[in-house]
Order: sequence, then structure tokens, then C-alpha cells
Amino acid sequence: MNYLRKELYELIKSDESIFDFIQESSLDGLWYWDLTKPEEEWMNAKFWTTLGYDPNKMPHKAAAWQDIIHPDDLALATENVGKHLADPNYPYDQIVRYRHQQGHTVWIRCRGLAIRDEEGNPVRLLGAHNDVTDEKRREQLLVETNRAARVGAWELDAKTNQVYWSDITKEIHEVAPDYVPDLETGINFYKEGYSRTIIQESVEKALMAGKPWDLELQIVTATGKEIWVRAIGRAEFREGTCQRLYGVFQDINDRKLAQISLAESEEQFRQTFDYAVVGMALVSTKGQFIKVNNSFCQMIGYSEAELLNMSFTALSDPETLEESLPPLLELRQGKRDVFLTEKKYRHKKGHFIWVSIAVSKVVNNDGKLLHYITQYSDITERVKSEERQRKLSILEAKSKEMEQFAYIASHDLREPLTTIKGYLELVVEEFAADFPTDARQLLNLALGSANRMDALIHGLLDYSRLGRDRSLEKVDSNELWTTVLEDLSLKIETSKAQITNDSLPVLLAYPLELKLLLQNLLSNAIKFAQPNQPPRIHLGFKKIGDGWQFSLKDNGIGIPESEQKHIFFIFQRLYRNNIEGTGIGLANCKKIAELHRGDIWVDSKLGKGSTFHFTILTEREQV
Ligand code: ADP
Repeated sequence: MNYLRKELYELIKSDESIFDFIQESSLDGLWYWDLTKPEEEWMNAKFWTTLGYDPNKMPHKAAAWQDIIHPDDLALATENVGKHLADPNYPYDQIVRYRHQQGHTVWIRCRGLAIRDEEGNPVRLLGAHNDVTDEKRREQLLVETNRAARVGAWELDAKTNQVYWSDITKEIHEVAPDYVPDLETGINFYKEGYSRTIIQESVEKALMAGKPWDLELQIVTATGKEIWVRAIGRAEFREGTCQRLYGVFQDINDRKLAQISLAESEEQFRQTFDYAVVGMALVSTKGQFIKVNNSFCQMIGYSEAELLNMSFTALSDPETLEESLPPLLELRQGKRDVFLTEKKYRHKKGHFIWVSIAVSKVVNNDGKLLHYITQYSDITERVKSEERQRKLSILEAKSKEMEQFAYIASHDLREPLTTIKGYLELVVEEFAADFPTDARQLLNLALGSANRMDALIHGLLDYSRLGRDRSLEKVDSNELWTTVLEDLSLKIETSKAQITNDSLPVLLAYPLELKLLLQNLLSNAIKFAQPNQPPRIHLGFKKIGDGWQFSLKDNGIGIPESEQKHIFFIFQRLYRNNIEGTGIGLANCKKIAELHRGDIWVDSKLGKGSTFHFTILTEREQV
């Protein structure tokens, strides 16, 4: 025996203070139990202070500690002590729980050694306590942490191929606590395909070359659920051979699914944004463009790079910018969810476009404003057509007023005119024979003027009455044309006009008005013929989109280009002196074409004849 050891052992026997030092400093309790009188037991002071009791007040009786040990542990301790007493090779060593004087649990590692008599019968039991509460708490904490983080452990003994799974590893696989895994079943939990192939390769590389792994893969649990796990593995090598593989296994399904769904929704947003037909932009809280899509670039004429250097205020018309500030503030303060507006934006090329804008907020989880998302639609056409419509309504109202006035005026003018004409005719019939020739001529001139005025007033009355209180009818335009030819037969014969026509349709029209239109055009074509050349006239027809187009072609005197627009307005006449007329006919024709939703225009060259076209666009009208 080593001399120092021998010396120490001698010292302990001869000097009590040495033994006291050893037990005080290395143990949290020492006890010595008389097995022949089991109620007698000596406990040292530290035994009690560790459990929170005053040693001076505690009796040296076994009952003293049996009262405060956890009942389950007492039963187990009794059983283990029994085994140790029966067989010295069976060590007594276990962890038991005591209730501290203040109520909490104290974990004690308790070891015992039986002292036997010469026959080998146990007569005393010497025991030692170590307080392991701190370790136990840490251990529990680790288990709790692992459970919360769903982290389990596993191990493979490369020699025996035995596999160990911790409780949480089993929980993650949804197998029973007594489940016994092996390498193959362990690998087969991985989802077939990518996950299983990768884990097989990784295990192989670790076994052969010690290569560690850290992967996110899918397993299918015992109940058939597919979940994402993080699998980490390491190899331990000794003398060139793998001894064991070990690692951790974590359930990361929730995080992974959230990550996948976030990636999916980000992708969806990106696609919506990039391919939207409306313009879209992300605008910073300071008004700077952060992201713009292609539609917006096209609408506004700037490239993405240019817009990202601009603020939205640079595009706005300063007039309309002011108006947007209060609602934007309300949006920012959460008083509204979206701000809709229509604004003038300046296109890169300089002109203004009208844009309908919807602005909403993008906030983070705490409700903090990150930026704005804005959608833009180009409504320039709509705004312009509304403007046109507005002007048109004003015009329509004005022209209605005019018609009303013309109707009243012509109606009221007729009466005094009839009287004037009547008296003039009376004077001519009764007295004119006695008048000097000059006076007779003057009288006849006055009568002629009165007659022309009558014709004008007639024309005006007709014009203002057109289309009043009538409705669309099915009209056979062939028949209508025939009656026009009959009505004008005298003029046709006198002028020796040759008239032809295409086959004409049945259509929806106001019959009287349509007849008047054709009649006006035909009589003009005869009236404005070239001198010494009989008129040749053709009525052409073609079907067009929403209706019908007619064209009356003549070989007459033609109309100078500068006049072609004016002749459709009332009282506009050329050659006033040569050929008689009122200047109302084409104004009537225009009004009639418009009554049928159509239009009228002329192609003509001076001296080369004219073709008057008009359209009837009533095909879709309800009769
Ligand atoms: P009016 O025939 O009573 O003068 P209109 O309104 O029918 O009035 O025609 C206006 C003017 O248009 C005519 O005065 C004439 O100068 C010109 N015009 C109309 N039809 C023809 C035609 N077929 N050929 C040449 N000029 C025409």
C-alpha cells in the first residue's frame, strides 16, 4: 500500500477531526443505522441542515427521515436495501426525494454499505447523502426545453446496430414509448423519394467517411402524418472505424409550413404584381416608388429605373396633389382602409393622362405602416368621352331650343304672310289691269317674294317637325324609292334624267322622313345637273356593321371642296342667284340621318358630279 494512503488511514483512525473534515466537505449527509434495532439511527448534522432542519432538534431515530421522504421512493429504497443486504454485490445507490422543511423537493443521491458480522449477517448500514437537486433541476429543464422545442436524440451503435431513440424522438415519430427502432425502420420513416434517398446517402457517408449531416427532410409518422424534421447526425470514429452515429432530431413542421406558405404567398404576390394589367406600385411612406410593375411603366411612359428614382408627387398635377393630402393622412392614421381617387398624371412625353388610383397600406404584425400599395388604371378615354358626352348634351339641348323657336316663329309668321299674299293676289286680280306697267311689275315682284317667303316658312316648319312623335318601322326601301320616283316623275321627264339603283333592303326607319331624305337628294341631283347634259343618277347600297349605307351618285355640277361641310347647315346655299331653292333640304337630310343614328356626307369634285352618302344605324334598336 502506498505509504501516504496508509498514513491517512491511520490518521483517520487516530484523529476524529480528520474523518469529520472528510465527511463534512464531501457529503451532504451521513447516517449509520443499527439493523439489529432498526429504530436507532445516527444522522450527522449536515444530514439535517441539507433538508432544512435544526440538527439539535432532530432525534436519532429512523422514523425522523421516514416521515419526510417521498412515499414512492421509500418503498423503492426499502426494496433496494433488502437486495443489498441479501447480496453484497448488489450496490445500494439510488436517488430519492425528500421534502425540505420549507416544502420544496430536495433530490438526494443515497448510497449505503452494509456492515456485516463474522457470519456475514448485516448488522449496520452506513449511508452517505449527496444533494443532486441542482443537477436534477437542470436535467428536468433540459427535458422541458427539448419537449418545447420538439428536439429528440438518437444514437446508433455501429458495432451492434442497436438504435436508441429518446422519448421526444419517439413522440415525433408517433410511436409508443416502448417502441424499439432499428436502422432500417428508422430510415423507412423518411418519406419515399427525395427525403429517403438523401438520408440513406448521408448515413452511408457518415459510416464510411465520418461526414456529418444537418438536413431538413420529411418523414411519415406511424399514424401517417407527413411532417418536416431537422435531422442532424455525427459519426464517432476510433482507429479508423465508425463506433457510433448520434445526433438530434427536431420537429420543425410548423415553422417549415409557415415558411413554405410565406414563400408561396410571396410568389403569388410577385406574379400578381408583375403580370397585373393594371399599373401597380409600392410606395414608401415618404412617397418614393419602391417597386413598380410593367403596366404602370407603360401607362406613364417612364422606365422602372426612372420611376424608382422618383416620388409620386413628381407625376401628379400640382392642382390635384393638394386634394389628396388629407385623405392620405386619414389612411395613415387608420381612419380609412383605402383611398380612391382620380388624378391627372403627367406622362413622360409631356401630355396629361387621367388615372384612377387606389391606395392601401401594408403594415407589419404590430400594425406599423411599412409602405403603401397603389393600383393605377388609365381612365383618360373614359374622362374624355364623359367630357364629349357633356358637351353633346349641351348642344342637343341648344338645338332642341332652336327647333322649338323655329317651329313657333314659322308657325306665327305664316298667318300675317298669308294675309299679305291674299291681299297682294286680290290687288293683282281686281285692279292690276288698270295699273301702269311699272307698278304691275313691282306688284308681281312683291308677290314672288311673298311666295318665296312662304316656301321658306314651309321648309322651316317641316324641318322643326321632323321625327316628332314618330316611331321606327320596318320599311321596304325599294318600295319607298319607287314612290319617290313617282312623285318626282314630272321633273325626271322634263330633265330626261336616267335613274338606276341597286337592289335595296328592308330596314328599320321612320318612313316619311326617309322618303323625304331620298326625295331631297334626288331633286338636288336633278336640279344641280350640268347644263346641256341630262342627269345620270344611281342609288347605291351596301350593308355595314350596325345598319345600312346608301349612296346617291350624280354627274352634276359638283360642289367645291371648301363648301362640302357647310351645305348641310340650314340656309346654306351655293349659286344663290341661278337656281331656286331654300337652303333647307340638306339640313333636313342631315337631321333625318341623325334621327336614324347615322350620318351624311358628300364626295364631290367641282364639274365632276357628286355622291351623297348616308347611313341608317337602327339595326339594334328595339321596335
Ligand atoms: P337648296 O337645294 O334649297 O338650295 P339644299 O340644302 O338642298 O338647299 O342644298 C344646299 C346647297 O348644296 C345647294 O344650294 C347647292 O349649292 C348644293 N347642292 C346640293 N345638292 C347638290 C348636287 N347634287 N350637286 C351640286 N350641288 C348640290
